[in-house]
Order: sequence, then structure tokens, then C-alpha cells
Amino acid sequence: MKSEFDICIIGAGMAGATIAAYLAPKGIRIALIDHCFKEKKRIVGELLQPGAVLSLEQMGLRHLLDGFDAQPVDGYALVQGDEKTTIPYPHHYTGMGLHNGLFLQKIRACALQNESVKQIHGKALHLLENERNEIIGVSYRESQTSEIKTIHAPLTITSDGFFSNFRGDLSNNKKTVTSYFIGLILKDCDVPFPKHGHVFLSGPTPFICYPVSSHESRILIDFPGEQLPRKQLLQAHLDANVTPYIPESMRNSYEQAIQAGGFKVMPNHYMAAKPIIRKGAVMLGDALNMRHPLTGGGLTAVFSDIQILSAHLLAMPDFSNTDLMHQKIEAYYRDRQSANANLNILANALYGVMSNDLLKTAVFKYLQCGGANAQESIAILAGLNRNHYSLIKQFFSLAVFGAYDLMRQNSANLPKATKILRDAFTIIKPLAKNELTVSAVVSGCFKR
Ligand SMILES: Cc1cc2nc3c(=O)[nH]c(=O)nc-3n(C[C@H](O)[C@H](O)[C@H](O)COP(=O)(O)OP(=O)(O)OC[C@H]3O[C@@H](n4cnc5c(N)ncnc54)[C@H](O)[C@@H]3O)c2cc1C
Repeated sequence: MKSEFDICIIGAGMAGATIAAYLAPKGIRIALIDHCFKEKKRIVGELLQPGAVLSLEQMGLRHLLDGFDAQPVDGYALVQGDEKTTIPYPHHYTGMGLHNGLFLQKIRACALQNESVKQIHGKALHLLENERNEIIGVSYRESQTSEIKTIHAPLTITSDGFFSNFRGDLSNNKKTVTSYFIGLILKDCDVPFPKHGHVFLSGPTPFICYPVSSHESRILIDFPGEQLPRKQLLQAHLDANVTPYIPESMRNSYEQAIQAGGFKVMPNHYMAAKPIIRKGAVMLGDALNMRHPLTGGGLTAVFSDIQILSAHLLAMPDFSNTDLMHQKIEAYYRDRQSANANLNILANALYGVMSNDLLKTAVFKYLQCGGANAQESIAILAGLNRNHYSLIKQFFSLAVFGAYDLMRQNSANLPKATKILRDAFTIIKPLAKNELTVSAVVSGCFKR
């Protein structure tokens, strides 16, 4: 069927809106569907690692970070009790702290200014299939009229975020909740190191903080476990595990934020990408792959995926050859897995490390030493070093460093030193298995 569109994008969030903004000026005809195009106040996607900023730059979209008080971030600061250390990002690279809602509205406006993009207000319902089980579009409920309508396109991109409706059709993923983040905005907060992402390790669970505008910092407080923290439990957690560990200089802003209320709570998922490749559709963003947000790696992965997918799609003369497009989608899934493995492994491995007392102390001391190891580690966190060997080397160097440090203090620490090595191995093994083994399933006739 000849379609009015080349691509139908389900979800005009960070992934969907950005790929539309990138592809539309290249003449690709796009239907961009979302049930809500209004600005939302969210606690997600507010720290862009340098890898994400670099991707925007390479796509010619760096200008989207201008004009809404986004803040440059020069590196990371770790705080454990009275001890503090900073690690700068590699030379010439910066991250950005920002309000996600404002940023997303800029990306959407940039996409929608193109004549080749049609904005559709509606909730996507079901993927449409032809008699060969190929996907040929989507049905949706139009927001204004509640009518059920359809869009046809040779390619449908499902980028409908972490509660995606389409995983059942296009993937075998298992999503797990690792913990929750409790988000608060701190006004005029005096953080230990301005222009830095902070990781506070003093308490039993980590919390992170970074600038989102010239007068505001975001604090994200970890609440471990799979259960949504109820109000009373949340307050008890803050009282016992967070408030006593807030640095003196931040206390005022923190207490004002607590009094004002307005907590936002979000689940932190881990979900390795396990796509099922079907003709006519591809997954992008959190719908496909998620990692713990402790390292702020989500958008680095999303923008990198957009670059990889777009490069493959733009290498086709047009969207009419479904076999060729199928090959391109396979290539995208293969290339993106390797490109994102470090971000995915690091995010969840670091969360495991921060939740383990011995490893937590080891990582602090390891990075405090500075030098080549700290530089290599921050380049991985920044999304600039995608070499898998580097990541595995750094992770085990950290564990050996921690074990050696314990033994150096006292040879009676041998059981602890052994434990640190065992724990490190237990943390990294399933992640490496998930992220470094080929997982794409090719299926031309897959049916639910
Ligand atoms: C607590 C938390 C903090 C985070 N912090 C960071 C950070 O600091 N830095 C970072 O890089 N990453 C961070 N992330 C991850 C990052 O926010 C995500 O990876 C990113 O937002 C994913 O973009 P997306 O487009 O896939 O999903 P979204 O941005 O969620 O977009 C999905 C879109 O789909 C639309 N939609 C959903 N269902 C339908 C439907 N049926 N029909 C039509 N439209 C639909 C929604 O309205 C939405 O607009 C964080 C994640 C969490 C949970």
C-alpha cells in the first residue's frame, strides 16, 4: 500500500521527538503520534552526559540546549562523610543539567516545524499487520474525538517509553525494578562543587545531585527494593537514611524542599534489549532498553541509538524495499548493542557497588587516587569510552584495589578481601552476560 508517510513514530518523547527532529529535514515523511504534547514536569533525563551532548552536536541539534537556562556540568564529585573528591570529564567535553520538560518541548518544536512531520494527538493502540505478519502501521484513538483511526507506513518506530505497549510484539525483554528514585528540587542550593554531578555515599543508600538551572539543583534519592515507597515509609527513609547525611551547606535548601513537599517518585528499571526483529517495525529508547539512572546514561544511549538507526535508514534509497529495510534494522540492533553495552553494564554495576559497603568504600578510594584509572572510569561514565575491555579492566582493577587495600590495613581482613572480589564478580557476571552476548531474534513470521 502506498503510504503518505515513510515512518510512523509512536511516542514523541526524548527518543521519538529527537529522531523526528533529525530525520525530517532530510526529507523523511513522518507521522509523530503522542497522547500528550504538553510540557510535563518530570524527574527523568535531566543530566546529559558528554556522550549525549556530543551525539546532539554530531546530529546538528546542539542548539536545542540553548535558551532555557541549561547548565554546563564539568565532571563528577564524590562525597563520603567528610571526604570529597572530584573527577573532571575528559578535556573539552561537558555534560548539561536541565529541566527535561523544557528540553523536550524544544525538541518537539524543532521536529514539528518541518512540513514533512504530521503531528497526531492520540493514544497508539495496536500494531497493524498484513497477511505476511509484517507490520504496516498502527491504530490509535484520536484524543479530541476518541475515534479509532489508523496510520500506515513502511516503518513504525515504537518509542513509547518505559511502560511501552508494544514490547509483547517486538521483544522478549524482562523488565525488573532495581529501586526507586525520590526526586526533589533544591532552590539556590550550595553544593560542594558547583557545575558538578554529585554522588553522595555517606548514608546507607546513595543520593545524587546536579544543577538543572542557574538556581535549581535536582536531588534524586535512592529507595532500594521493588516496592513503591508509601508516604510513611518514604518519610522514615528520609529521616533515617538521608537527612543526617545531607552536607551542612545544602541543609537549608533541602529542608525547605522537604517542607514544600512535592516529591516525585519514579521506578528505576533494568531491562536488557532482547528484540524480536519483524519486518516493518523497530524499537527505540526505553521501550527497548533501560538501565539504572544512577549514572545518567539513558539519553546517551537514546541519542546514540538514534544516530545508529538513522545512519542505516538514510543509507537506503527510499523506504520501498522491505527486505533491505529488514537488513538495516538487524544491523541497527547489532550495532547498538555493542555501542551501549558499557553504559548499561556500568549503570547497574555501579548501583550494585554503591549498595555494597566494602565496594562503596573501595570505589571512593580508587577514584580518589586520580590518574589514569579515574580518567578511564569517567570517560566510560561520560559515554565517551565504549570499549568493553576498558570497562571490565576498570571494574576488576577496582575490586583488586579494594581487596589489596583491606589486606594492607590488616591481614585479618582476608575474609573481607575475598568477599569484595566475590561480590564484584557476582555483580558484573549477569550484566556482562546480558549485554555482551548477541540477543537479537530474527523472525519473519512471529505471532503473539
Ligand atoms: C528517575 C529517572 C531519572 C533519570 N535520569 C536521567 C538522567 O539524568 N540522564 C539521562 O540521560 N537519562 C536519565 N533517565 C533515563 C531517561 O530519562 C530515559 O532513558 C529517556 O527519557 C527515554 O526516552 P523515551 O523517549 O524512550 O521515553 P519517554 O521520554 O518517556 O517518552 C515516551 C513518550 O511516549 C508517549 N507515549 C507512551 N505511550 C503512548 C501511546 N500508547 N501512544 C502515544 N504516545 C505514547 C509518552 O507520552 C511520551 O511522550 C532517567 C530515568 C529515570 C527513571
